[in-house]
Amino acid sequence: MLSSNSGFQRLSQAALSRSRFLRLAAGALLPFVGLRPSAAAARNLEVAQNSGAPGTKDAAAPGRMGTILVSQFGPVKIHSYLSPADGFQVNTQMIEGPTAVVIFDGQLLLPYADEVASYVQTLGKPVDRIILSHAHTDHWGGLQILTERFPDARVFALDGIADQVRARGPARLDGLRRTYGDKAATKVTVPTETITEGLQRIDGVTYDFKRFVDAESDLQLAALLPEQKVLMAFDLVFSPNQHAFTGANHFDHWMIVLESLKALQVYDTITIGHDTPVDRSAIDSTMTYVKRAKEIHAASADAKTYSESLRAAFPNLQHAEWVDLSAKLLYASPR
Ligand SMILES: [Zn+2]
Repeated sequence: MLSSNSGFQRLSQAALSRSRFLRLAAGALLPFVGLRPSAAAARNLEVAQNSGAPGTKDAAAPGRMGTILVSQFGPVKIHSYLSPADGFQVNTQMIEGPTAVVIFDGQLLLPYADEVASYVQTLGKPVDRIILSHAHTDHWGGLQILTERFPDARVFALDGIADQVRARGPARLDGLRRTYGDKAATKVTVPTETITEGLQRIDGVTYDFKRFVDAESDLQLAALLPEQKVLMAFDLVFSPNQHAFTGANHFDHWMIVLESLKALQVYDTITIGHDTPVDRSAIDSTMTYVKRAKEIHAASADAKTYSESLRAAFPNLQHAEWVDLSAKLLYASPR
């Protein structure tokens, strides 16, 4: 079912070292989360244009650094670009409808946003718009490239996201440039258009946009595709195989959000922010994780104790280095 799984396994094994990870975290990039291969739920997944071994570079883009999966749902295709480890393996989702493409999220680093743009151009359809899911830098850092290469595509986000990007963006990019040099954006790209909640049809595809607060981030979009039964959850849901990011300290409300996602019974494919698509069981596993993390947070007096306890509670999850970042952020501010 998931011929690409081994390709993602290979990518995940290139995870950042703990020291490099903490160095990045010290740059106060953002809360971003880990990335693990998951039991992908989407049917018809394939590595884009890849007729060879799973995860290998396709002939059309022999130098491509990221990996692309394509999920087909009748006339609609979801192309998921997953960046390499130094870009925090963040997804850009490209929804290809009959005549246009809608892009969700813009990558952390410019080279990977550039790969997204080049891939979109191979689809031969104009970019209708770009939509930013939330204000964490790993999702908007590369928007500079996308807006340069698709100058007619306006950038949308929920009301409030633009203010967050405008306020925190310059400091985030300063940190990025110290670490990544010219791979990092030179300017902050602020969304100019507001997404309203509810149903919208874009290029014949029905979206149901939803606004969530106080989960993995303070403010987060989710997009339902009811005709495709796809839930685009971004960083609300994590892979069952990896640690989740808990640095925003919204344990209780995140659980409420997850309960509301769980109530959306018909959505059996879930795309997430940092990994291949998952099935509904990932909502349960994320709830288990958040619940346990809350208990450990309540019982831990300092970051070290929190981190050690959470790692011990989930010894088989990968990307334990993310726990250190969560702990650092959780205990840096008053509880
Ligand atoms: Zn993220």
